[in-house]
Amino acid sequence: MNSPTPLDRNEILKRYKTIDKYTHKGIQGHVLIIGGSYGKIGAVCLASKAALKTGCGLVTAFVPQCGYEIVQASVPEVMVVTDDHEKYISEIALNLDVNAIGIGPGMGQKMATQKALHDFLSNTSIPLVIDADALNILSNNPSWVALVSPRTILTPHPKELERLIGKWHSDEEKLGKTVVFSLVNQVVIVMKGAPTYIINGEMIYVNTTGNAALATAGSGDVLTGMITSLLAQSYSPIDAALLGVYLHGLTADIALPTTGYQSFIASDIIENIGRAYLSLE
Ligand code: AMP
Ligand code: MG
Repeated sequence: MNSPTPLDRNEILKRYKTIDKYTHKGIQGHVLIIGGSYGKIGAVCLASKAALKTGCGLVTAFVPQCGYEIVQASVPEVMVVTDDHEKYISEIALNLDVNAIGIGPGMGQKMATQKALHDFLSNTSIPLVIDADALNILSNNPSWVALVSPRTILTPHPKELERLIGKWHSDEEKLGKTVVFSLVNQVVIVMKGAPTYIINGEMIYVNTTGNAALATAGSGDVLTGMITSLLAQSYSPIDAALLGVYLHGLTADIALPTTGYQSFIASDIIENIGRAYLSLE
């Protein structure tokens, strides 16, 4: 196995693209975030707002009906489409022209939601970021991994990874199993943790930004929005994953002197994405 390449400023500057002066929202990329269930609509709000703050031109959120007013009121820049069901997603029948889709935050694992995910994966070839409950559903139905679009990124935290690849007995075994999973299924894996590894087959990177302030509710939902936004802005899956993880960590490094570890929350990641970008200029 190759030893991991440190994901530092140099690696990022090789990939980072500045914004074209004459761009407009129609070509900056349209992101679709699919997720949410009763009591967990906030995950979609965080991912959607993070996507916008990372630079895509448009965001649409697909949520159960109970999320309609919540998303509209908390992130007015986001367009909202609702499922027929009040409390959870039961059918993802969307015909939107979007460039990347983030799916899973707050989604729950009701049987109807599982079927909706299966049918959705069977019918889309749009680049995906699969996170949270969508990952857990894949772990329950391993054969469905074969249905995912080319150019898909999976973003498991350690528990989600364990459900996906099984137990490990050492960090080396964990990395090795994840590399095999990435190779076999042709997906990029963001192996979240401290530190986070980004794996594209035998290509392995280890992130150098971020700190324990990121260990807070909604942190991963924000990362999903950020990576999906970069995917919609025409970054390749590996580059979207690398830049997203690096910027996400950088926000926590920038905010730490003012928030400390304890009072940093997921919204602080979103508020500092702009400063993280500016530090690359
Ligand atoms: P999630 O568990 O899905 O909310 O994702 C948590 C996010 O925070 C991931 O991007 C982790 O890599 C990051 N994170 C959690 N704890 C730490 C830590 N102690 N140091 C650095 N990053 C962390
Ligand atoms: Mg998460």
